[in-house]
Amino acid sequence: MKYEKEINRRKTFAIISHPDAGKTTLTEKLLLFGGAIQTAGAVKSNKIKKHATSDFMEIERQRGISVATSVMTFEYENTLINLLDTPGHKDFAEDTYRTLTAVDSVILVVDSVNGVEEQTRRLMEVCRMRDTPVIVFINKMDRDGKNRFDLLEEIEKELRISLHPMTWAINSGKEFKGVYNLHEKNLRLFTASTKAEEDDTIAISDLSDPLLDTKVGDRDAEQLREDVELIDGVHGELNVPDYLSGKVAPVFFGSAVNNFGVKEMLDTFIQIAPTPRDRETSVRKVSVDEDKFSGFVFKIHANLDPKHRDRIAFMRVCSGRFERNKYYHHVRLDKDIRFSNPYSFMARSKDVIEDAYAGDVVGLFDTGNFKIGDTLTEGEDFFFTGIPTFSPEIFKELVNKDPMKTKQLEKGISQLTDEGVAQLFTQFGGNKKIIGCVGELQFEVIQYRLLQEYGAACEFRAMPFYKACWLTSNDQKKLDDFLRFKQQNSAEDKDGHPVYLAQSEWFLNTEITNNPDIQFHFSSEVH
Ligand code: GDP
Repeated sequence: MKYEKEINRRKTFAIISHPDAGKTTLTEKLLLFGGAIQTAGAVKSNKIKKHATSDFMEIERQRGISVATSVMTFEYENTLINLLDTPGHKDFAEDTYRTLTAVDSVILVVDSVNGVEEQTRRLMEVCRMRDTPVIVFINKMDRDGKNRFDLLEEIEKELRISLHPMTWAINSGKEFKGVYNLHEKNLRLFTASTKAEEDDTIAISDLSDPLLDTKVGDRDAEQLREDVELIDGVHGELNVPDYLSGKVAPVFFGSAVNNFGVKEMLDTFIQIAPTPRDRETSVRKVSVDEDKFSGFVFKIHANLDPKHRDRIAFMRVCSGRFERNKYYHHVRLDKDIRFSNPYSFMARSKDVIEDAYAGDVVGLFDTGNFKIGDTLTEGEDFFFTGIPTFSPEIFKELVNKDPMKTKQLEKGISQLTDEGVAQLFTQFGGNKKIIGCVGELQFEVIQYRLLQEYGAACEFRAMPFYKACWLTSNDQKKLDDFLRFKQQNSAEDKDGHPVYLAQSEWFLNTEITNNPDIQFHFSSEVH
């Protein structure tokens, strides 16, 4: 195991949350601890404001920010942490899902006032598909939030994960007094602070200590004693293997904007969060500590300058060491490529790197060689698996407005779908091109980019579909008959896989019942 030392000091994770729960704020505090930034306010929100959905400057601004903050690398207590950013806007949820395939664990931020929200639920579903270890940060304790026990119950029930409180909040809102660390058995009193170093905890090993009453008041001290008794009775010590297998999530309470409760979480994170994990491929399991390099592309970003069509492919290194200027095998294209300017992403600047290890994310300049899910190796033929595509939610027919530019349009749409901006389906029989997206915003992005980058004008025509299901069957004839019979609703995806486009849940359920020999899948692997 040549690179064991390097690989074992790496932790690669993402912060996920419903918009506004505090992801950006927490990111910034973590970077402060890691010394990657010196002042608060340095991390810009990558959010697209709601009113700005048609504002292309806003989209461009967002694209600029999200490249710069795509991967934030910092060191804390000898641990090298790669924090992968995920887009906040719901319309870019697919991007987030794919980023989750490149991390080894996540921190989930929940707003203590709003509890579990729509995006929280969906993101957790994706985490569950891969048994990703989760740490929960309950944010905004300085606001009058829900009762803590109710909140835990809600999260457990809605997200179907067992929780294990690591700290416990003493009150909330104006009365928020601080957090008691159930494991370290100390108290941290609430102060709004933006400095990273402060470490003013008060050791309270025995909860009957009158010091507790002096510090938080009789009533809250008594309540804390009662709460802790209840929690201890239920939970005991955290079972780390259960956390690592995604069954139990440690929970921390805090206030990101006040940098409160964040250090407790970070200290636990570097102790228990997984180092880069082994990964399944189409052929065998690849172990992170293999000497040979392997990696896969999970995200592609178009160049900000529309005059240059080159792109940045984000590659997660899965095993061994990646080196600049060395030839690697692009499995899908069966071709060897080398990269003269691979770069690492920092909070603000991009640096060309000489090498990278399993767990790292490298930015590769791409002139159209990559699509999402592509695997690079030192020669072996396999694909990393478990990179899902989900059903889009809005479907529209792509209408060419300028027949002279048909080639450009086709090239553009092919590249944009390789990037994962949208999914392309071709209707059987009719040959209509159907674009599927998660949100309306993406249609605007596509139209704008096709025109700007490829000179192709297009229009979209609404189609009455609500979901795409990928079809498989052991009985090829039955599948072919079904596709022929349901021509209006049948299409193939970009990789030629058959898809059923359902008008409504009722139609879908009817077809599922009527066709027991055909399996309807709500997600597909990218290969
Ligand atoms: P994101 O959409 O999840 O990235 O959320 P942001 O980090 O941008 O936070 C959304 C809003 O919540 C901002 O106005 C923050 O200042 C605010 N916020 C974040 N953390 C806290 C907190 O602990 N308490 C309070 N009261 N507000 C917070």
